[in-house]
Amino acid sequence: MYIVLFGPPGAGKGTQAVRLAQAARLAHVATGDMFRDNLRARTALGQRAESYLTKGELVPDELTIGLLMDRLDQPDAAAGVIFDGFPRTIPQAQALDRALHARGKGVGVAALIEVANAEVLRRLGGRWTCSDCGMVFHERTNPPERDGICQRCGKLLMQRSDDTPAAIENRLRVYRQQTEPLVAFYEAAGILTRVDGEREPEAVQADLLRVLEAVSA
Ligand code: AMP
Repeated sequence: MYIVLFGPPGAGKGTQAVRLAQAARLAHVATGDMFRDNLRARTALGQRAESYLTKGELVPDELTIGLLMDRLDQPDAAAGVIFDGFPRTIPQAQALDRALHARGKGVGVAALIEVANAEVLRRLGGRWTCSDCGMVFHERTNPPERDGICQRCGKLLMQRSDDTPAAIENRLRVYRQQTEPLVAFYEAAGILTRVDGEREPEAVQADLLRVLEAVSA
């Protein structure tokens, strides 16, 4: 089962993807987390991606697709994946289709988590991310049990450098211009599902679980 989760920044993709991957025993593949890991480890890829991440721009397709293809080759991806933040452009979606078809597989469903711009802006200000495992919390909608501490691994929470007002605005613009065309792409493929992302995480998760069940039935 290969599931694409997409939507604007702050839609809750990361939170939902972690929960769904656990519930459905699928690999969770988040290109944003992979870029941030590379940045922290000061790899060549991390250094090439850094300026894009900081500004809220997309990392060029060639780099992103290469990273994703290597990840798809890892054994845990063979049984299925929740893609979180990939694809974000039409060429990425086409590359993913080609790669999965070559393995005799395909994207089962592309779930669009819909959230309006005003709510995105409200949400990203209060977002906290684990400095170690990447788990995402929110002051209002999904607070950690202990302030500033990750509930999953106990490490410190931090605010992402691209959650500044200028970067947030840019990420939204980039999303509307470059990623939103995926709605028509997956609609044409007959695999688009829309989920209202402006509700409690539990309600969004319940909808997504129903979608997964329908696909695997
Ligand atoms: P995210 O954690 O998904 O919000 O991603 C954080 C940043 O990583 C994005 O703003 C981009 O700079 C980069 N990034 C993540 N996924 C992709 C992708 N599929 N294509 C291009 N850039 C990406």
